[in-house]
Amino acid sequence: MISEKDLKDFTAYAKTLGINGIGFIVAKPSDIFKEKHLLFKNAILLTMEMKADKIVKAPSKTTMKEIFRTYLGLGVSVNKLTQFLKDRGYRAHAGPALGGEANYPLMAERAGLGAIGKHGILITPEFGPSLRLAAVYTEIENLPFSDENPHLWVRDFCDKCNRCVRKCPAGAIYKDAIVFDDGTKQHIDYKKCAVPFSNNHGCTVCVKECLFFSQGYEKIKSSFLAE
Ligand code: SF4
Ligand code: SF4
Repeated sequence: MISEKDLKDFTAYAKTLGINGIGFIVAKPSDIFKEKHLLFKNAILLTMEMKADKIVKAPSKTTMKEIFRTYLGLGVSVNKLTQFLKDRGYRAHAGPALGGEANYPLMAERAGLGAIGKHGILITPEFGPSLRLAAVYTEIENLPFSDENPHLWVRDFCDKCNRCVRKCPAGAIYKDAIVFDDGTKQHIDYKKCAVPFSNNHGCTVCVKECLFFSQGYEKIKSSFLAE
């Protein structure tokens, strides 16, 4: 059980490390990648912004540097936040920003931090899809887990938009989702995406072209929900 003070201190410390969003969720077995394991199922999801002035240049070396700056910053931050919890007597382990054990966008969506767009990336009110995710897993049972998500209207917007489907240079984003045997849906063909991602500075065209990046969440929300 975490005390109110320790949770408040944790949140304040996260902000000093450049963390922008914090959400709390219990990981489901279906969130965890094959042959990966979590020591604790209680997850603290963390977001860090990728700066828009760098992402707008995608694909480019500048964008690639920003992607890795964010991975590094977030990676260092989750390690420090994990250590913070351990120092206060709570067992925890870090989920790295790059190559994690579980599906961060799925967990972050359930935690109410945003909604997953057709491009497979979490879209948030603050930065649209221009962010990276990582997690801290912990034994702490009384985290303020959320079961509400006010952002799921984004899915309906995506169904009308499809801009990333048209703009993806690899044709890796499908207009209609692939439905797997277990009922989960996915719009992204990761094998196709891997080619421009590897050969062209991490691609990132789908982030740059997303309307939530260029126009902003609140503007789209007010016009879309008013229709
Ligand atoms: S990173 Fe590039 S190739 Fe991959 S889905 Fe986005 S736009 Fe398509
Ligand atoms: S570009 Fe359009 S369809 Fe693709 S994720 Fe963004 S809002 Fe959704």
